[in-house]
Amino acid sequence: MLPKKTPAPEVFILKKGKTPNLVRGMKDILPVDWPWWNLVMNKVVSIASDFGFERIETPILEEQNLFVRSVGKDTDIIEKEMFVFTDRGGDNIALRPEGTASVVRAYLEHGFMSLPQPIKLFYLGPMFRYDRPQSGRYRQFWQFGFEIIGDGHPVVDAETVALGATILQELGLPVKVQINSVGDAASRIAYVKVLTEYLKSRKSQLCEDCKKRMLKNPMRVLDCKVETCQTLVQDAPAFLDHLSEEAKEHFTKVLEHLDDMEVVYDLNPRIVRGLDYYTHTAFEYIPADDVGTEKQQSALGGGGRYDGLVETFGGRPTPAIGFACGIERVIIQMKARGIQPPTPPRPDVFLAQLGDAARKKTLKLFREFRALGVKVAATFSKTSIKTQLEAANRLRAPFTLILGQKEMVDGTVLVRDMESGIQEVIDFSKAIPEIQKRIKKTNGDKIILNPEVK
Ligand code: AMP
Repeated sequence: MLPKKTPAPEVFILKKGKTPNLVRGMKDILPVDWPWWNLVMNKVVSIASDFGFERIETPILEEQNLFVRSVGKDTDIIEKEMFVFTDRGGDNIALRPEGTASVVRAYLEHGFMSLPQPIKLFYLGPMFRYDRPQSGRYRQFWQFGFEIIGDGHPVVDAETVALGATILQELGLPVKVQINSVGDAASRIAYVKVLTEYLKSRKSQLCEDCKKRMLKNPMRVLDCKVETCQTLVQDAPAFLDHLSEEAKEHFTKVLEHLDDMEVVYDLNPRIVRGLDYYTHTAFEYIPADDVGTEKQQSALGGGGRYDGLVETFGGRPTPAIGFACGIERVIIQMKARGIQPPTPPRPDVFLAQLGDAARKKTLKLFREFRALGVKVAATFSKTSIKTQLEAANRLRAPFTLILGQKEMVDGTVLVRDMESGIQEVIDFSKAIPEIQKRIKKTNGDKIILNPEVK
């Protein structure tokens, strides 16, 4: 019998083709953008730590129902904006449109309720909404958010409002808080009744969407962007006039505490924050210059109390409050105000080499500098000293160590001061202490000697 021939393995070779497109409404965050992103993220992380918040990151994918039950089925987010799909197992999944519902899910899932309350959490990550893309409005956008779960005291509302304003102000963005109360369940029933009556009597002036909203979720008419609806809601009954005694008392105390903390705010009856889970205090952060102009619609962030959400998800009644800000919008504002992020740190030393043997030696030297905490840079693939010195200049390295063929033979190395161009020959074995000495002299930096890292 002839031996069986094994078939030759198929070889897949990628074919040339069209350049792929970015999905509509998505954005790359490019290296030039990162100094701003780092500035915002570092500020969020450092303020969170100052105020005793711990980080939580929940998955981007959640069960669709999580948001339907919390945000509310008659909201824009659920009706039109959620990215949803059925996974291979047949489950209905959503790309998270916001962070609060997931944080509350995690609070319950991980037994945070049995820890001393309140639980103070923050997050930083991408959210997804199938919105109409335009400036400052994307389908993937990042938010940082803060949540305090398990404390219903009005001073916590004021502290939360102040916290967001502090972050934005410390990023160089003066903001004015727009604040309102959407009360408790009793207030909402009373208010929705009078609001519906008001809207019904003016139905013909409402946009087509609002005619439906008026019946399903009339409070949403208050934040409709259509001009005729906006004019109409100017004279609509205000929630504040329909608050229950308890809700009124809570809100009055929140405002008193904000006054104590010298937070600047406007009472704005149109801030109702569309989502079903909000109760009591609702607020938004508007760039101070935009207040009273048409740009006022583009809030940098917003939030509110959501005292019923933990219970909605099967937990015991637990008061909670939080806010989220859009990072892209914050950065747009920072750029508009001419705020510059700090220039990225420069390397302490650049290593240039000529020839294979020198490259080997500088590869080792590179690791030794790193182990000592010295910021070191090199372009090992380059063979011309000129090109390497250009790279060193571009990176703003103050010194370059040059290891050419002559130095290899002599056991020396050249130290070049990049500003003056003065070069000195030193013993190769002195390279590290010499650079450490020079760095100390130039920027007073402390070099951390870490003998354990080799
Ligand atoms: P919201 O949860 O809708 O109140 O959003 C809070 C903040 O997230 C807003 O004030 C914006 O800064 C930001 N944001 C919301 N939707 C978008 C979007 N589609 N694109 C960019 N930023 C957004």
